[in-house]
Amino acid sequence: MSNKNYHLHDKVEMKKPHACQTNRWEVIRLGMDIRIRCEHCDHIVTMKRRDFENRLRRVVEFHNNEE
Ligand SMILES: [Zn+2]
Repeated sequence: MSNKNYHLHDKVEMKKPHACQTNRWEVIRLGMDIRIRCEHCDHIVTMKRRDFENRLRRVVEFHNNEE
């Protein structure tokens, strides 16, 4: 479960890659809805937190939010 511990600006990999074949997204909004941006084409997807967690494969890079 710890690899699904995501935060704002973390880079994540989803179960399905984006249509542009990139599977690396940045979490750009955390709330009732989650918003992620494709690293390659800047496409933005907004989805319910529950849907996001279902589609999330793993966090690939943790952003340092502790300052
Ligand atoms: Zn893309």
